[in-house]
Amino acid sequence: APTAETVQRRYATDETSRPRSAADREHIMQNLRFGADFSDHMASARWTADTGWSEMRLLPYGPVPLDPSANVLHYAQEVFEGLKAYRHADGSIWLFRPMFNAARLAASCRRMALPELPAEDFLSSLVDLIRTDHEYVPHVEGGSLYLRPFIFGDGAGLGVKPSASARYLCIASPSGPYFKNGFAPVSIWVTQQYHRAGPGGIGAAKTGGNYAASLLPQKEAQQKGYEQVCYLDSAQGANLEELGGMNVFVVRRDGSVQTPALTGTILEGGTRSSIVRLLQDEGRDVQETAINFEQLVADIRAGEVTEMFACGTAAVVTPIGKLGYEGGEVELPKGEVTSHVYDTLTGIQYGRVEDRHGWMYRV
Ligand code: PMP
Repeated sequence: APTAETVQRRYATDETSRPRSAADREHIMQNLRFGADFSDHMASARWTADTGWSEMRLLPYGPVPLDPSANVLHYAQEVFEGLKAYRHADGSIWLFRPMFNAARLAASCRRMALPELPAEDFLSSLVDLIRTDHEYVPHVEGGSLYLRPFIFGDGAGLGVKPSASARYLCIASPSGPYFKNGFAPVSIWVTQQYHRAGPGGIGAAKTGGNYAASLLPQKEAQQKGYEQVCYLDSAQGANLEELGGMNVFVVRRDGSVQTPALTGTILEGGTRSSIVRLLQDEGRDVQETAINFEQLVADIRAGEVTEMFACGTAAVVTPIGKLGYEGGEVELPKGEVTSHVYDTLTGIQYGRVEDRHGWMYRV
């Protein structure tokens, strides 16, 4: 895998660059939101079958011209990633497992018939963008520079076929915690009415359509008084899958931990795979398995399941306080495995806990 020393600068800064004033930037950095403000630049590259990937640049952050018949606007040929740059106490800046995101982006591209961006071009876009806009990496713990790389079909024409050209962009957002309440339990509506993905579908790809499909269920859950939605598998409507943007874990009274297996209908989270590894390292029994929802509710009622949490890059680890479903509701206490996982993971990310797996990548 490429390291910081071997990454060549590939994305040259465009001379039209006009960064914000220091005062405007400071205002943003003192009032961190999530995904609402963006740094001065964006990494950009173009693809056609003839040229391959080319025109790698750091452009001023701003609007992107698109032909009204562009593939992405009609047929949603699009994939994206999400990862963060963290500032350590000594001022250095680090990414968490960027090669995981490079590989997942490539896997999403394959499913969506988009050209794959080589891992080196992906990584150098992040490094070049972060080095150029380093003043946007927050100094407070809990803050980070959230990176959003994405690729879309920008070719013109209404034929239903893979776009003849594609665009890669990476934007960066100085961010505070994802949930306003921080490490507070979330309430979850387990929907039996809607599904996120089906066998053979696109659930394992990080592509816009999956999130578009989640907006109505999310809105309806909020009207019922719940913060997030959890989906069940669509083939049987029986097993837990994931939330709209996070994976889930179940902690049992005997100390074992379960998370839904990667069946092809859920997104493989980098946070999920890291947590599986961390808990295994500690000698815990971790099962990637089918989690039957009816049985889960019975086990929570019987005290056999003691904690549940959700996890993802944006919110890290979030305790689940309540599960609502058609005809019932169960509550869960906030437990120590959840806080331990949260502390360990954020400890590694912010440089307080030893990184034994080489997950951190210095920018
Ligand atoms: N599931 C879905 C549907 C997601 O959008 C995300 C966020 N990328 C996750 C799980 C968690 O993935 P990660 O830990 O890599 O952020």
